[in-house]
Amino acid sequence: MADFQSKVTRRPRSKLERVVEVLHRDAEAPSEAAGLTRVLEELERHVAETVRRALPALQALPLNDARAQLRESGVSHRPTLDRILLWTGHLSSVAPSEGTLRLVVRLGYPGESFESVARALDAELPASEALSLARRANGLLDRHSRAICLPVKPRCNKCCIAAACGFRGIGADPSARLQSSS
Ligand code: SF4
Repeated sequence: MADFQSKVTRRPRSKLERVVEVLHRDAEAPSEAAGLTRVLEELERHVAETVRRALPALQALPLNDARAQLRESGVSHRPTLDRILLWTGHLSSVAPSEGTLRLVVRLGYPGESFESVARALDAELPASEALSLARRANGLLDRHSRAICLPVKPRCNKCCIAAACGFRGIGADPSARLQSSS
């Protein structure tokens, strides 16, 4: 995978930025997987809008209060909680779904739990665009995990980021080390 540089700052791009860029380009290409990606993107936008409309009071709260209110509302699943806080703008975190955890651990990211893998991803968010990249990564990685990087028999021969993957469907699956995030 080419070692792109940021067009704005000329700093070397992180692995996360390069992977997101390739997934974004692939989502533009006409293919079966890209078609599914576009449908899922629409759904993602719809969910984000629903969250934004339904939770205006939440958005006005500081992070810790917003987190506490969500917990009081019964949102205890950490990935879901972080994902909502990402879309309300409280949290610049990739907030990986279960599928994204599987995918990025296969790519070579360290960690065994939601917390440790999420921190490894977030460490690669550039300060200048952390929230926007986190939102793009959240959606694109999750969709790739559902369309291509399947739990069993990942479709590595159709994978646009195979060059960045340390697994490629060969040998022991690194995602077997992941613990449940519930
Ligand atoms: S090459 Fe295979 S295992 Fe690696 S990210 Fe792509 S689909 Fe997943």
